[in-house]
Amino acid sequence: MTHTPDKAFYRAAILDPVSPSSWRYIPDGGLLVERGRIASCGPVAAVGPEAEVPPQELDGVLVPGFIDLHLHWVQHAVRGRFHGDLLSWLERHIYPEEARFADPVHARACARAFFADVLRAGTVGGMAYSSIHLEALRIAREEARGRWVAGNVLMDDGDRLPPHPAALLEEARAWGPDGYAVSPRFALSCSAGLLEAAGRLARELGCFVQTHLAESPAEVAAVARAFPEAADYTDVYDRAGLLGPRTVLGHCIHLSEREWNCLLERGCWIAHCPSSNEALDSGRMDLEAVRRHGIPWALGSDVGAGPSVSMLHVMQRFLAVHAAAGVSVTAREALYRATLAGARCLGAGEELGSLRPGRAAHFVLLPWPRGTRDPGGALREVMAGGPAELESRPLGTWLWGRRLAPPA
Ligand SMILES: [Zn+2]
Repeated sequence: MTHTPDKAFYRAAILDPVSPSSWRYIPDGGLLVERGRIASCGPVAAVGPEAEVPPQELDGVLVPGFIDLHLHWVQHAVRGRFHGDLLSWLERHIYPEEARFADPVHARACARAFFADVLRAGTVGGMAYSSIHLEALRIAREEARGRWVAGNVLMDDGDRLPPHPAALLEEARAWGPDGYAVSPRFALSCSAGLLEAAGRLARELGCFVQTHLAESPAEVAAVARAFPEAADYTDVYDRAGLLGPRTVLGHCIHLSEREWNCLLERGCWIAHCPSSNEALDSGRMDLEAVRRHGIPWALGSDVGAGPSVSMLHVMQRFLAVHAAAGVSVTAREALYRATLAGARCLGAGEELGSLRPGRAAHFVLLPWPRGTRDPGGALREVMAGGPAELESRPLGTWLWGRRLAPPA
């Protein structure tokens, strides 16, 4: 062995995101891990003397663990299985599937499978929707591995009702303000009263808010009918006090200029989910508008509409969808939006999403041609493939410096 549990020194190529337009690429890199944190990262010749042990050679490139800013862990088992437009997809397939999470045995088995699969795919954290059931959310808390923010979806349409407020508050406090997200599913599944209560709860807890905004044209039209007093879809959430710098809005595809400005003023984040938008034929997020307004955003898989928990697949679809529309996108930006951007959204930019010293040693080994001079081209090759095969493309995932998936 070339390392102890306390200390490990790896030699591999290193690709570390810095910003949407820059990364640090080290063809012959060294990564020193001490007590679960990154102690040093740079050219192997520079890190070596500090390591005081010989390096363990890894055949590939090390990147930070991925952050998935939008997914539904309770839809993991049926990811990519159903299609149709958003509203019929929810009614016909997703609501019945999520109803099964009333059963704790089912919830436990699914939670274990979910966290094992995302680690296998290189994802070490993110923001997740649970079902309406508090017990399933508690089980997810017990089974979670990595840095997850989560919340039970809130709905009050038909017989789908929110949990008892006291019980919800207790579970939310167990996750804490940095771990819980008040999660009204979307405007159409909530009354104005429930949205206002959700806004009050988020302020009281000081936690995150996550919801969906303007995913499909039919949804936008139905929201206008259901909330005639609101100026537009974004205003429905704004009036309820749900928009702020800890709010993450999924999709944001069909927005007006007024709405973009509102999101900017409130400091909201967007979770951009290109693979899901393709699967449900929802349209393309106006990336040019997001850039023009300077709204912060990161990538999400939106499993189960999205067909894969692999952030490599999401990055691939991000590049393909916008390039097809003639918009300039780069592998650099794809990697940043799948790692450091999401970490910053979670308030964890100094902890996750980068291989800088002091960060948690959560990283992923990807296949990489030796002696690569063009990291952008090589990364595009790494993310080529179908949704299922990309879930097992990583050669290893480390959490707190321990190799978890697949075993060494
Ligand atoms: Zn979603």
